[in-house]
Amino acid sequence: MKNSRKRSIILLLLVLSFFSGMIFLITKFSTNAEKWAFKPYNLHLSLNSFADAGRIYDTNSTVLAESIDGKRIYNEDSQIRKAVFHLVGDESFNISTSIQNKFRDKLFGYNFLSGIDLPSFLRKKSDVYLNVDSKLCKLALSELKDHKGAVALYNYKTGEVLCMVSTPTLDIKNLPNDISSNKNKDYDAVFLNKILSANFVPGSIFKLVTAICTFENIPKEALEKTFECKGKEIVENEKITCAGYHGKIGLKEGLKESCNIVLGNFAMTLGKNNMIRTAEKLCFNKPIKTDIGETKESYFNLSDANKASVAWSGIGQYKNLVNPLHMLTIVGAIANEGVAVMPKIIKENKNNFLNHRKSKNSEENCIRYTTKDVANKVKEMMSYTAKSSIFYKFHNFNTCLKTGTAEVGGEKKPHAWVTGFLQNEKHPVAFIVLVENAGSGFEEAVPIAAKLLKEVTKET
Ligand SMILES: [Zn+2]
Repeated sequence: MKNSRKRSIILLLLVLSFFSGMIFLITKFSTNAEKWAFKPYNLHLSLNSFADAGRIYDTNSTVLAESIDGKRIYNEDSQIRKAVFHLVGDESFNISTSIQNKFRDKLFGYNFLSGIDLPSFLRKKSDVYLNVDSKLCKLALSELKDHKGAVALYNYKTGEVLCMVSTPTLDIKNLPNDISSNKNKDYDAVFLNKILSANFVPGSIFKLVTAICTFENIPKEALEKTFECKGKEIVENEKITCAGYHGKIGLKEGLKESCNIVLGNFAMTLGKNNMIRTAEKLCFNKPIKTDIGETKESYFNLSDANKASVAWSGIGQYKNLVNPLHMLTIVGAIANEGVAVMPKIIKENKNNFLNHRKSKNSEENCIRYTTKDVANKVKEMMSYTAKSSIFYKFHNFNTCLKTGTAEVGGEKKPHAWVTGFLQNEKHPVAFIVLVENAGSGFEEAVPIAAKLLKEVTKET
């Protein structure tokens, strides 16, 4: 009797574990089947399906990719193909963030029960509509010339990404044969969308973060305190240098002149804890979410920093790194009363498969980076900077901006940056331009941004 009870219990346990295993397997399968089907090791399953996949459109319904007579065809303009290469993607899995990789299931009409084995006419294939304007992307690409870099523009009120270009890039219709050997290093990071998946030394564009921190913690000093710039300053035996000799100036002039001594001193006055608190409120050290995935994290860490390192971090050097799209949300928040709207790459369109996702500016899509008051004060300083005579190219656009020239070490030239936004009801656009190892932000990045803003505000 005792034995048979023992056996019954064991049998019951076995049956229970069998069924819980089955439930686990079915749940895993139903939630992950799509992902598994489109993993790189299943490339053979999906490659043929490009023969009749859905279309990819830009914001003006220009076709960027479509399938005709069993072939995947891309936009006829080679410069547009190159400009949107990282966004549209190729037919392999090389660009993890591309539309043809991330939304392969929707483009192919993947079905949970039949996979992608159904005949083409039975598969419900989706088209994908994007927010980018491919002509604007083409202009950004031509302005970057042969430089490596990244350009992005977005609507800081709605989050729509209007332009997203990363170089070096490739023409999908004429892929070179020597990519895998990469002898001259021409193809380094060629499959990386730098707007989403890379981070860089920010240099002086980071001074905006220091300015936000100053207004948040010592608002009176932000308006009144001055420091004397003699071109250099010794802090605990380390030299902090400035490109100019600015004399006695405060935060407003310091930002306009991009004075390292003033901003470095504000960072030291604020100290590690305040700087870290502000940076983390602005989403440093974590990815930001877009509708096609997360960005690479921006990095800010002062755990081993001495006083001079805190100064260098406040002027965007030390170990600081920023992701371009994340930085775009910071200037977007300054423009938008402290609230950052997360970037949206996919268009809100009745035909779009992503329509079921939370649209408009739901809480999930917006993060308060700072207060309205602080954002407006930094905005005023950025506007004052843009009104400086050297930025005459922006004077027609009511712009707020900050340039950066980020030292990257070694024998390499600095990264050239400019970021900012338009104060324009009709065109609430924020921008960021990075030209890698090109020299000064003012000389190399500013003309590109000015050209793009001229195009964006052009009356048609
Ligand atoms: Zn200075």
